[in-house]
Amino acid sequence: MRGSALSGFDGSLEDEILKTVETPIVVLDRNGAVVRFNEASERLTGFAATEILDRKIWEFLILDEEIEAVRTIFEETCGASTPTHFVNYWKTKKGERRLIEWSNQRLNDEEGEVAYILATGIDITESKSREVALSESKAFLRSIIDASPVAVITIDDKGNILTFSHEAEKTFGYEEAELLGSNINALMPEPDRSAHDGYIRGYLETGEHRIIGKARAVKAQRKSGEIFPAILHVTEFADGSRVFVGFVEDVSSQAAIESRLKETQVQLQHAGRVGEMGEMATSIAHELNQPLTASASLAGAAALTLKKVDFSGRDGVIALLDDAVGEIRRASDIIRQMRDFVRKRKTAKSLHDINKVVEEACAIAVIGAEAEGISVKTDFQANAGAAQLDRTQIQQVVTNLVRNAIDAMHNSPKKELTISTERRNGLIEVKVADTGFGIPKELKSRLFEAFVTSKEDGLGVGLSISKSIIDAHRGDLLVADNKPSGCVFIFRLPPEAHDDAEQNP
Ligand code: ADP
Repeated sequence: MRGSALSGFDGSLEDEILKTVETPIVVLDRNGAVVRFNEASERLTGFAATEILDRKIWEFLILDEEIEAVRTIFEETCGASTPTHFVNYWKTKKGERRLIEWSNQRLNDEEGEVAYILATGIDITESKSREVALSESKAFLRSIIDASPVAVITIDDKGNILTFSHEAEKTFGYEEAELLGSNINALMPEPDRSAHDGYIRGYLETGEHRIIGKARAVKAQRKSGEIFPAILHVTEFADGSRVFVGFVEDVSSQAAIESRLKETQVQLQHAGRVGEMGEMATSIAHELNQPLTASASLAGAAALTLKKVDFSGRDGVIALLDDAVGEIRRASDIIRQMRDFVRKRKTAKSLHDINKVVEEACAIAVIGAEAEGISVKTDFQANAGAAQLDRTQIQQVVTNLVRNAIDAMHNSPKKELTISTERRNGLIEVKVADTGFGIPKELKSRLFEAFVTSKEDGLGVGLSISKSIIDAHRGDLLVADNKPSGCVFIFRLPPEAHDDAEQNP
C-alpha cells in the first residue's frame, strides 16, 4: 500500500532525505491517517512509526482541545492549492507537549485529486518559551517600574520618551500615552529645555557625562507649567540600542519643610532676644543704677533739708523731690523699654499641632548637642493633639528648656536628652528630660523667678519668661526629678476644645 500510494515518496533518495532531516515530517492520507512518520518525528514523540501507521493523527498525537482546529486545517489543506500554515502541540508518548509550527502541502494523485498531505514541522517549544519568558520579564520590569515610588522615565538616544511610569504620570500630570515618543525636554523648564538635546549629543560624541550615575538637583516642570525642585538620577543601558533611565524624585515638599525650618529659625532668632538680654541686662543695670542712686541721694538730701526745717528752705526741698521723681520716672521708663523689648511680639495664637511645633523648635535647639556627646531622643505621641497657641512663644519655651538641659549635662557622665509629647489626663504634656545633676538646692524655691541663675554668664530670665508664656496659654510649667539623675521640665497646655472630644472619648 505504501509503495503504490506514495508515488514520488518511495524512492530511496526521498527515503534518505526523510530519514536524515532533523525536522518532523509526516505524510497523512486523505482521511488523516499516518502513512509516513520520519525519524525526527519518532525521536520527538517517542512513537515508533510502526506503532502508529494507519492511525489518524488526531487520535493519538493531538491535544483534545486542539483536535477540532487540527481537523479544520487538515480539511482546508486538502482543498488548497498552496501550502497552509498552522501551529499546534504534539502530545508525546510520555505525555509531554511540544509546540510545532507546520507547513502543510497537498499532494495530488494522477487525476489531480488530493492523495496525501505532507506536513513539515519546526519544533518551536524552546524558542516560544524564551519569547514568553522575555515578554514576562518585560512585564515584570514594567511592574517594578510602575511600583517605584519615584518617577521613572526611559528615553532613547535622541531624548524621545519610551516609557513613563505611574509615578511619573502623577508627578508631572501627563498620561504616558500623551508623551510616548515626545522629547523629554517637555518636562524641564528653560534653559535646560533648549539645551537638553545638546547635552545628550555631547555625551554620545565625547562620552563625557555630567549627570550619569550621579544624583543631581534639577528643576522640573509639570503639565500645569508649575516648576518644581527635583532630584534626578540617570543610568544608561544598552538594549540593542542605547536607553537612558531617569529616576525623578519630586522634593518640593521637602523644600517646603526646609524653607519652613528656615523661617522658624528666623523667628526663633527673634525670640532669641532673650539671649540678647544678657548683654542688655548689664547695660540696663548700669542705666538703672544711675537714676536710682541719684534719686536716693536726692531723697536723702530732701530728708536732711527737712530735718533742719527751715520754712524758707521749702522751695529747695520741693525741687529736690521733683528731681527725685524725675529720676525714678527715668528708671521706670528703662524698665518699660526692657519689657517692651522682650514682649516685642504680641501673642498671636492659632491652632497648631503640638508635635510639629515642638519638633521644629528641637531641630534647631539641639544643634551642637551631639558634638557635646549628648544623645538626643524624641518621642512624639501621635495623640498629643493640637492647641491654640503662639507658635513662636511656645518654641521659645522649648528652646529654653532644651538649652538649659544641654547646659546641665556639660560635666555629667551620662548625657541623655529626651524630648517627648503626649496626652495625659486630657492635657497636652511636653517634657524635656536630662541626666545632669539636677536643680541646685538653693535655687529650688525661686527657680521660676527672674534673675535667678547659677551660671556665670546666666541671666536667669529664661525660666521666668517661659513660665509667663505658659501661664498666658492657661497652662502650667513645673519641674521634677528625673530618675536616676537630672531633672524633667514639664509644661502642660489645654488642648483645642473640639480635638478634646476626638482624642479623649
Ligand atoms: P539661665 O539659664 O540664664 O541661668 P534660667 O531661668 O533658664 O536662666 O535658669 C535658671 C537656673 O535654673 C539655671 O541657672 C540653672 O541653675 C537652673 N536650671 C534650669 N534648668 C536646669 C536643668 N535642666 N538642670 C539643672 N538646673 C537647671
